[in-house]
Amino acid sequence: MTDILIIGGGVIGLATAIALSQKGANVTIVERGNCGKGATWAAAGMLAPEAEKLEGSLLEFGLRSREMYPKWIANLMRLSGQDCGYWCCGIIAPVLSESDCLALSQHPKYINKSQSHQYQSGLGESILGSLWLPEDGQVNNRKLAQALIAAARSLSIKILEGVTVYEIARDRDRVTHLETSAGRLQSDHYILATGAWTRSLLPLPINPIKGQMLSVFDRDRKLQRVIYAPSCYIVPRQDGSIVIGATVEDRGFAEGNTAAGIAQLLNNAISVYPAIADMPITETWWGFRPHAPSEVPLLGASDYKNLILATGHYRNGILFAPITAKLLTDFIVDGKTDPSFQFLKR
Ligand SMILES: Cc1cc2nc3c(=O)[nH]c(=O)nc-3n(C[C@H](O)[C@H](O)[C@H](O)COP(=O)(O)OP(=O)(O)OC[C@H]3O[C@@H](n4cnc5c(N)ncnc54)[C@H](O)[C@@H]3O)c2cc1C
Repeated sequence: MTDILIIGGGVIGLATAIALSQKGANVTIVERGNCGKGATWAAAGMLAPEAEKLEGSLLEFGLRSREMYPKWIANLMRLSGQDCGYWCCGIIAPVLSESDCLALSQHPKYINKSQSHQYQSGLGESILGSLWLPEDGQVNNRKLAQALIAAARSLSIKILEGVTVYEIARDRDRVTHLETSAGRLQSDHYILATGAWTRSLLPLPINPIKGQMLSVFDRDRKLQRVIYAPSCYIVPRQDGSIVIGATVEDRGFAEGNTAAGIAQLLNNAISVYPAIADMPITETWWGFRPHAPSEVPLLGASDYKNLILATGHYRNGILFAPITAKLLTDFIVDGKTDPSFQFLKR
């Protein structure tokens, strides 16, 4: 049985661990904090390859992953016994100017103002039309994280929490071991799934892009679609919570919410869905997206024969988790690669 050590217990590390374990590998996850509490916890959980306007092979990657979601979630629910808040609620992407309405009027998914208001009541007057994206949706990323951890435990994946990897020790073209706060760890293969913190272990071009978020509570639960406006998104959960995001800030690992960040999100959200003005704020938080050049994840082979990369998922790591886990498992266990994805390094 192949021994695999995964550094990082976010959605990417956990999803990959589960897929590998279900193919018979013996997997250990090393996480310096608690699993699922990095970007995975901070996210909005949109499954939105279309609303995000992904292009080329990255769009294909996102569409394929979105397609995989129903079965992927069913497997997780079966293993964990937990609900993940997966909801195919569709996304409304509002258009706010006459010129944009004109430009998009021939788009097959364009709907006019009155149709937009039929798909979702209570939209702001600033919305002049929209794209209706019925196949985009959402998962509750925090529930997902909990389910992934429970599923991993059910498969006897070893999870070492509170263990920091300080160094990936190398000899020529191979990793020999990891130096960690719990001593030396050794394995046949290593997977680097450290999200925005990747550069602290290897000189790879991954940078943290901060996102501030908040949530409000909607007693009436009238919002039934994700609204993906040009300057904010609004994600209703089935329990009445509404997640509003997100700023995009290139400020390193600067922690905390700012008044300007939250004010910007609230102003934009209230203009597209005015009922938010009267809802109580329930939480504010922030997180760090792992940004890679051209926003394309670093996946597959590295400069070291037994080290696999699984990082740089930037704004769409929750969406990309199922396909990342599958491609890496095909690659490591079966030696297969998918020619559709040139960015998967062989
Ligand atoms: C505000 C915000 C909103 C987002 N919204 C969405 C969305 O709507 N849809 C979507 O698909 N994506 C979204 N994303 C992006 C998504 O959250 C990320 O792409 C995804 O979570 C990345 O997962 P990951 O496992 O690579 O990283 P993380 O979840 O950050 O996990 C990395 C883990 O590695 C651990 N680690 C790091 N260094 C070490 C070390 N040296 N030793 C041990 N452990 C280490 C960390 O503690 C962390 O737990 C959003 C992100 C943010 C910040």
